[in-house]
Amino acid sequence: MEERYKVITKHVATCHATVDKFINQYSNCCSEGCAYCCIQPIEIVDVEELPITDFIDNKMDDETKRKVRINVASWADYFNEFYNDVGDPEAVNKAFRELVDRDKVPCPFLIDNKCSIYPVRPLGCRAHVMRDTPNLCRQDGLREAPEEIKQIRDAFLMELTKIPPTSLRYLPVALAVPLGLGMIFKPHRIPRLS
Ligand code: SF4
Repeated sequence: MEERYKVITKHVATCHATVDKFINQYSNCCSEGCAYCCIQPIEIVDVEELPITDFIDNKMDDETKRKVRINVASWADYFNEFYNDVGDPEAVNKAFRELVDRDKVPCPFLIDNKCSIYPVRPLGCRAHVMRDTPNLCRQDGLREAPEEIKQIRDAFLMELTKIPPTSLRYLPVALAVPLGLGMIFKPHRIPRLS
């Protein structure tokens, strides 16, 4: 394994494991099979792409891979039609998220209501838990996590980005090429996580 690849994989795994440890200190109402929040257009730090790609290549079964490919291609069709990259990136991202929420467009990696990349899911997914009730998530899949959880996410975003170069991309955009789908997304700008 190439040295830089090893360093990145270890760095991401350490960050993710530490995030999990912090998050697990909080009681929460999230459980397997509950995926109301998996409609969010998740952004990932570039270093998180490697472990996910590796997982898809070496651990994901062919049938799941086939379903994910179909989902990513269909997510791309939606994105290319409705993502309107004009103006302030924060406002553009907010408008797109609201549209995705309105249309209930699931994350392409959600297969049979379960995350198909769960062990290597990105920070944005790990650091998103709720402490009250899933009923509120059903009504609003985009609702914000509690402040203390967001603070953990932001702290680990800083930690993850210690290995340059750093950029954010939407999860399906980042994984389209490794999934053998080529460049299927129109050009766009990604705002920083807030
Ligand atoms: S990557 Fe997994 S946890 Fe994150 S939104 Fe997609 S299905 Fe949900």
